[in-house]
Amino acid sequence: MRFSIRDYSVSAKGKGWGDGWPANRSKDMARVKADRSGTRVNVHRRVAPLVDILLDETERRGYRLDPHTCGGYANRATRKSRKPSNHSWGLAVDLNWHRNPENWHGVLHTDLPSWVVPLWNRYGFAWGGNYKGKHKDPMHFEFMGAPADADDMLARARREILGHKPAPAPHNPGKYTVKNGDSLSAIANRLHLAGGWRPLYDLNRGVIGPNPDQIRPGMVLRLP
Ligand SMILES: [Zn+2]
Repeated sequence: MRFSIRDYSVSAKGKGWGDGWPANRSKDMARVKADRSGTRVNVHRRVAPLVDILLDETERRGYRLDPHTCGGYANRATRKSRKPSNHSWGLAVDLNWHRNPENWHGVLHTDLPSWVVPLWNRYGFAWGGNYKGKHKDPMHFEFMGAPADADDMLARARREILGHKPAPAPHNPGKYTVKNGDSLSAIANRLHLAGGWRPLYDLNRGVIGPNPDQIRPGMVLRLP
């Protein structure tokens, strides 16, 4: 993740998701379905396969969703400010809103089992029940990463939840030339490097320097 799930200082627009409310983003949405309950929500197509896995996993572990009290994309501001809600980018879902109601009195009403929040946190979603201050929104989960993080988290979820084995690297000559737009985590993901970007960075620290985010096109990296 390029952004912490606890960092609210950068908006989704600042992370590269384009405009939120009042822009109408409905063309960028895709519908996903929680298979056991049939609950459907619309979310941004880039996070849709990830949300699909998480909804199914949430139900598989025993927390059933009510199709009539869940939602995703909504072109609106947050309720008490004029800031675009993450729902307006299709990056947020609300789960069982009668049982996990939003309030502004610092009270946390929720029937979410204790494993639900860590599950969603692990794949880049912050929980509205963890908001600091009096505003608590325990129905609400929102993706906090950049678009490329959605791809990284999807790869992680496929591996960890669906048990997909990473495809063996077809041909690994031991070197990789950095292309435009690359990041170490994207390279590690694409080449299915064990341990992710960290071993790749450790091996190439001499070339990359102290900041792992500063790789330049044309740099030649050794592969672990
Ligand atoms: Zn919400």
